[in-house]
Amino acid sequence: MVNFSKILGLEQLKHDDGILGIFDGDEMRITTSSYSAVTLAKLFWRYGLDIYNIRSWVKDVTEKFSRIYTIQDAGFAYTSVMDLLQAMDPVFVKYMKKSIKSVLKADGYSDRFIDEFVTGAMRTNYGQNADIHGFVGAVSLAGVEPGLWSVKGGNYRIPENLIPLSKINLIQGDVKSITLLEYQESNYELRYLPTSPKLANNAEIQTKGYDVIVIANPMHDGFPDIKFEDFPNEIKNFPQKFHRIIATFVDGVPNNTHYGFENLDGFPSTILTCKNDLFLNSYGKHNDVLGNPAEKSVGDRSVGKIFTNRPPTEQEVNIYFKKKEDVRMVNWLAYPEYDFDIDNLPPFVLHDNMYYINGIEMAASAMEMSVIGARNVALLSYNHWYGHLDKIDEPYVDPSQKSDKAEL
Ligand SMILES: Cc1cc2nc3c(=O)[nH]c(=O)nc-3n(C[C@H](O)[C@H](O)[C@H](O)COP(=O)(O)OP(=O)(O)OC[C@H]3O[C@@H](n4cnc5c(N)ncnc54)[C@H](O)[C@@H]3O)c2cc1C
Repeated sequence: MVNFSKILGLEQLKHDDGILGIFDGDEMRITTSSYSAVTLAKLFWRYGLDIYNIRSWVKDVTEKFSRIYTIQDAGFAYTSVMDLLQAMDPVFVKYMKKSIKSVLKADGYSDRFIDEFVTGAMRTNYGQNADIHGFVGAVSLAGVEPGLWSVKGGNYRIPENLIPLSKINLIQGDVKSITLLEYQESNYELRYLPTSPKLANNAEIQTKGYDVIVIANPMHDGFPDIKFEDFPNEIKNFPQKFHRIIATFVDGVPNNTHYGFENLDGFPSTILTCKNDLFLNSYGKHNDVLGNPAEKSVGDRSVGKIFTNRPPTEQEVNIYFKKKEDVRMVNWLAYPEYDFDIDNLPPFVLHDNMYYINGIEMAASAMEMSVIGARNVALLSYNHWYGHLDKIDEPYVDPSQKSDKAEL
């Protein structure tokens, strides 16, 4: 995603880390400060060395994770999510089989740190708790480290700008079915309903033939299914459940007294919650997507976002905001319910020359993961098409290590 933003000349907007609080439903377990020395002292006082060690733990995970870029630059691709993770580093396969809680406990982290800081991170990023598997847990922890950024103007500008750059022919439409045509010039017939405004008036199903198909939307319970016709084996949505998340944006004033603050001085810009049965997953002050000071910001008024696992009632919104000028809600079937059923993960290959990217979300759902999954599928289809079988499901060996071995 960093490279895409550079190639496309899009500006990165660094996020102000602000004040962080962790709330247990009754009181704040910790509130950081706008002075970094005070923040460090407070975090150290509550979590001891865990707060320092987690930085190097995340850095170590990130370095292992980054191996995928070298592997993909060398043209290697994998047919399963587990093989791809194994190629990054075998420890990631182990992380998929344990909860993030047990991974961190085994690495010496305290219950207090896991139950508050780690649980808070899992709840805001995935709406679940520290029982989710260790790989997605590690990705989630990387997501609460300082230094986050987004694309100025919105992250959607990356795919939007990649379309003209890659010179593809985009047909906006909902794919309804894919038919296998074994003996035709193209392998597949795709049936779709155009959805672009120009075509919507006379929207009737259209068809087109393709040699290679890549499916890049979740094929899981709860999503509308594409019909796969005339395939020798049945292809249908995968059984894994997706987690529903409701993002409620409120232009107004957060209810500081609910969290035990007398006024809004020192009120956190991010509040994580650390009890599994709490309705509120997290609160975050929302920044302008262009990085400008909020236009409507008058006095204490700002735009705040809360994440919950079901839509809040008006009374529930009133618990978290004492004034509301405008309320918007987005209901997402957001990311998988993470468990350890790793033996039945969706494959990257659904049929010869027909690929599926989103199985990678079972390892972790994040933009970078989707991009890595997409590049894996691009390499996989290329390797299949040109018969580069030595670059499929093979462990990547660094050429410098190879020559060392030869000398030995
Ligand atoms: C609330 C929330 C917060 C998140 N925050 C972050 C974050 O901070 N950082 C991060 O890295 N990730 C975050 N994510 C995850 C990130 O959004 C996903 O990883 C990413 O969007 C997945 O990209 P995708 O292209 O695989 O799927 P999607 O973005 O879901 O795109 C799939 C597309 O396929 C289209 N489609 C579906 N069916 C059909 C069909 N039959 N025919 C044609 N088109 C179809 C859909 O309309 C959609 O446009 C967040 C997700 C949610 C829900």
